[in-house]
Amino acid sequence: MALNHNSKQFFIKMSKLRFIALEQAASRKIPVVEVPAKKVSDYYGSNVFGEDAMRTYLSADMFKKFQAYVEKGEDLDETLADAVAAGMKTWALERGVTHYTHWFQPLTGATAEKHDAFFEPTSGGRVLEKFKGGALIRQEPDASSFPSGGIRNTFEARGYTAWDPTSPAFIIESGTNKTLCIPTVFVSYTSEALDQKTPLLKALHAVDKAATAVCEYFDKDVVKVHATLGVEQEYFLIDRALFYARPDLVMAGRTLFGHAPAKGQQLEDHYFGSIPSRVRAFMQDIEIEAYKLGIPLRTRHNEVAPSQFECAPTFEDINLANDHNQLLMDIMDKIAEKHELKVLFHEKPFAGINGSGKHNNWSLATNTGVNLLQPSSKAKENLQFLTFFVNIIKAVHEHADLMRASIASSGNDFRLGANEAPPAIMSVFIGKQLTEVLDELEHNGNIKIDKGDNMYMKLGIDKIPPILLDNTDRNRTSPFAFTGNKFEFRAVGSSANCATALTVLNAVVADQLVKFKTAVDALIDKGTKKEVAIVNVLREYIKESKAIRFEGNGYSDEWVKEAKKRGLSNVKTTPQALNAYLSKKSEKVLIDQGIFNKVELHARVDIMLHSYTLKTQIESRALGNFAMNQIIPSALEYQSKLIENAKGLKDLGLKEEAGHMVDIIKEISAHVHTIKTNVEAMIEARKTANALNSAEDTAVAYCDKVKPYFDTIRYHADKLELMVDDDLWPFPKYRELLFVK
Ligand code: ADP
Ligand code: MG
Repeated sequence: MALNHNSKQFFIKMSKLRFIALEQAASRKIPVVEVPAKKVSDYYGSNVFGEDAMRTYLSADMFKKFQAYVEKGEDLDETLADAVAAGMKTWALERGVTHYTHWFQPLTGATAEKHDAFFEPTSGGRVLEKFKGGALIRQEPDASSFPSGGIRNTFEARGYTAWDPTSPAFIIESGTNKTLCIPTVFVSYTSEALDQKTPLLKALHAVDKAATAVCEYFDKDVVKVHATLGVEQEYFLIDRALFYARPDLVMAGRTLFGHAPAKGQQLEDHYFGSIPSRVRAFMQDIEIEAYKLGIPLRTRHNEVAPSQFECAPTFEDINLANDHNQLLMDIMDKIAEKHELKVLFHEKPFAGINGSGKHNNWSLATNTGVNLLQPSSKAKENLQFLTFFVNIIKAVHEHADLMRASIASSGNDFRLGANEAPPAIMSVFIGKQLTEVLDELEHNGNIKIDKGDNMYMKLGIDKIPPILLDNTDRNRTSPFAFTGNKFEFRAVGSSANCATALTVLNAVVADQLVKFKTAVDALIDKGTKKEVAIVNVLREYIKESKAIRFEGNGYSDEWVKEAKKRGLSNVKTTPQALNAYLSKKSEKVLIDQGIFNKVELHARVDIMLHSYTLKTQIESRALGNFAMNQIIPSALEYQSKLIENAKGLKDLGLKEEAGHMVDIIKEISAHVHTIKTNVEAMIEARKTANALNSAEDTAVAYCDKVKPYFDTIRYHADKLELMVDDDLWPFPKYRELLFVK
């Protein structure tokens, strides 16, 4: 029996639905995974109009022109656009593609597409496949339904998408249906960014410029610096039927009720355990799709919580890596359907069990192939490493609040600061060896240096190489950790678009590198030797940014106290965190570097606040409805049985036993009463919040006045779950959601 909303079964009792779902979940057959070829290299990238395809489908001349356009930002003329469009069309048609779409990342937190057929009507009722440069470069989707934060008046619905040639077009297959997707930015008619990609590209440009300028101190051949990203994506996987039997998961993406199971993750038997075969088939299917799309998915494993998993591709340039992560999330959703599974990307789908993050492994690489965060075996190169390393720490220290804001979302609020997730306090972990190196640099920096390499020894910079050997110095509790040759921004939420966090990270680093260069140049102008000038400025930075460095357990209460002493902020909620975007300090970084204009920045914060309000509102409504319409009725049904029972006992003259029954009956009544009065009070709090005028006031009211009811209502509902006859309980329980595979 398939669970189908149109079928009669949908009208059966909810508690029955639970048991049908359980039966279905327990008897799934694993779908056959069709492997397209023996070796991955035989089909890797086959659905991408990348360099290889371009070479084949463009003339040599046009291919060269295209490369110059992408690499040097040379002009895109009509001939080139037409040539690329023509090549793309032929390539796509040969592969059975019928439609094309501009693919973009609006601020709704998903990706968007509007499909157009390739053919156009010609005379005599015939059609012809057409696709010109103009259609490649620019489209005007109806923008009125995407959030704009008031930038676009409703009467001016126009916004347009513009081709991003740095991310190759690709084909999405869905059954026999194939669509050519062209990555684009999405901007308003008055050119304000309405998407995630536009500011990211601007931040990447800023960090390229600033880092390249700093590299000049060390290597004149460096003309470009790319920021790199490798995303570890965590997610939960549950059976599709069980998912649909949990209306809270359907509505809110997380469970609003559910008592902790007898067994959770305390045995730690899931992490790196063998992957269940059903999940393995799912993973294999995703990998095949990913490889066709040129997404270099490399690792897969179980995560800490039951039914929690992780996958990670090899790092790439940020823009591409982020497109790939967005695409991967789409693929995972689609493939899960085939396997009758549901992917939960929510940061905290289950209370009391680990949440999910998206670890952003980030670094900077030069056009000469050097990873600027790779400590080297040569002391001299390590000065370059230390320059970037220390500047990044300084940037995070300086802009910790903005970094915190960049990961703020209603979902992540449930995860950050929970006892197993990075805290909402920003800090940087660097490991024992690098701590020693920085200490040495700080204390011995002010020395007279005459000759070259001697300096490195005196400064302790020569001591860095061992880190290459010892990569075990890990701290999993840090929100921002150095992991040998890259930083890992772990506080990013699993459902987030990395662009939000990475726009900020690259922007603050760019800003910091510009300041560094100015400071060093000023010393050099005064006659200080270059290396000494660099070391002197780094020394100051090490001192100034010391408070942000923390090597201990980030999950501990001691750290919360210690951080407070150090003056670090611990901003627990999104509405409060988002304020940091609008501080003078942040505006300097974001507006002065041209990453946002003032209108865009304010609009974006408004959108994020509004999104917070909407999500909390949905949860609050769903919570109220399910409590009143499902949980209380189930409790009352059970209570009626108990009343019958009590009467029966009394009839038999068993007064004392009847009295025990009455105690349980009373207990149920008390929970029911508390739930009811709290749901009513929560509705009143919502009304008050809705009546407020500004996006900020409303979001704050939802956070401080509405949300606190969630825990109270849930507490009593979960108590009822423990009391009520299992047969009558409407929702699949945690043990069923997490352990039925
Ligand atoms: P772990 O952090 O679990 O040890 P890895 O070291 O393999 O795992 O890396 C995790 C992610 O970091 C992968 O996506 C990997 O490609 C990425 N990564 C490695 N080096 C870099 C780099 N220089 N820049 C960005 N990401 C990187
Ligand atoms: Mg990692």
